[in-house]
Amino acid sequence: MKILVTGGAGFLGSHLCERLLTEGHDVVCLDNFFTGTKNNVRHLREHASFELLRHDVTMPLFIEVDRIYNLACPASPVHYQYNPVKTIKTSVMGAINMLGLAKRTKARILQASTSEVYGDPQVHPQREDYWGNVNPIGIRSCYDEGKRVAETLFFDYHRQNQVDIRVMRIFNTYGPRMHPDDGRVVSNFIVQALRGQDITIYGDGSQTRSFCFASDLIDGMVKLMNHPSCVGPVNVGNPVEFTIKQLAEQVIALTGSKSKLVTKPLPSDDPKQRQPDISLARKELGWEPKVPLKDGLVQTIAYFEKLLAV
Ligand code: NAD
Ligand code: UDP
Repeated sequence: MKILVTGGAGFLGSHLCERLLTEGHDVVCLDNFFTGTKNNVRHLREHASFELLRHDVTMPLFIEVDRIYNLACPASPVHYQYNPVKTIKTSVMGAINMLGLAKRTKARILQASTSEVYGDPQVHPQREDYWGNVNPIGIRSCYDEGKRVAETLFFDYHRQNQVDIRVMRIFNTYGPRMHPDDGRVVSNFIVQALRGQDITIYGDGSQTRSFCFASDLIDGMVKLMNHPSCVGPVNVGNPVEFTIKQLAEQVIALTGSKSKLVTKPLPSDDPKQRQPDISLARKELGWEPKVPLKDGLVQTIAYFEKLLAV
């Protein structure tokens, strides 16, 4: 099949392109290189079935494809808050343009949605039928509400135009090719530990997240795309929950760093607790994560060690 991956030069997109090429597909990797880089896909460029396209999803696109994975959107708070108006345009206009393309080509289209649609959740763990607790006017809203509107558009195009959709809600995912300066907690802590800098814990570090390794996530994503009928939304993430302080301690232990833990103010609207209920993914996709946090961190640390040595 000819498969379009928007945001294909980003962290998750590059792993997805790699996986789809391994499966024998033709891959069009689209990116505007806001947070993604050509380096992330440099190793794929000699592949005869790989094509790199500089394009912004807020603009219409006319190509012929069989499937679309819509990942284009800055994903870390630092990056999505850099130009919030552009972030919401990317989610909303990007969804409209890619859904229009899917409608015309009859391609199946998967949306990379997010656990942020649950906001600062008041229900734990989060199931797909929970409607969330989202601040519509806060500093995270450009991302959260943009992704929520994108989900709405996906389901309206499905009901109104019979577009063949898949909606996946991704929980915190980490691994090689994360941007070293994107401010997300795993990359921040590893880079700080490797540089011997203070490890910055926002708040008291008691807030929780559940960290999924990239290979597990991509597995779930491909399974959902290939499912004959399950449109979702489906949570995909690792249900093992850690506090941010525990994560910092793990990173220090695995890097052998002498970095100290320091606290910084907690950003506003920072969710206190997050954990996916993955019963639906288990039942419908036969999927569950395999890589424990420690093993995934070891691989991610090795990646950043190499990157920082250059
Ligand atoms: P990333 O920032 O590495 O990747 C996003 C990619 O989209 C980048 O390559 C960027 O340059 C590109 N992009 C941004 N705006 C664009 C635009 N207007 N037009 C074209 N390309 C554009 O982040 P990631 O972690 O790989 O995230 C990929 C997707 O998964 C995002 O949609 C994100 O919201 C979603 N997601 C990720 C996580 C996670 O923990 N990694 C969690 C929830 C959801
Ligand atoms: N965080 C932290 N120190 C950092 C970066 C993040 O303590 O240097 C915290 C952040 O406040 C949040 C958690 O780690 O509670 C996860 O942050 P991230 O930006 O990775 O993702 P998100 O908040 O979107 O889940």
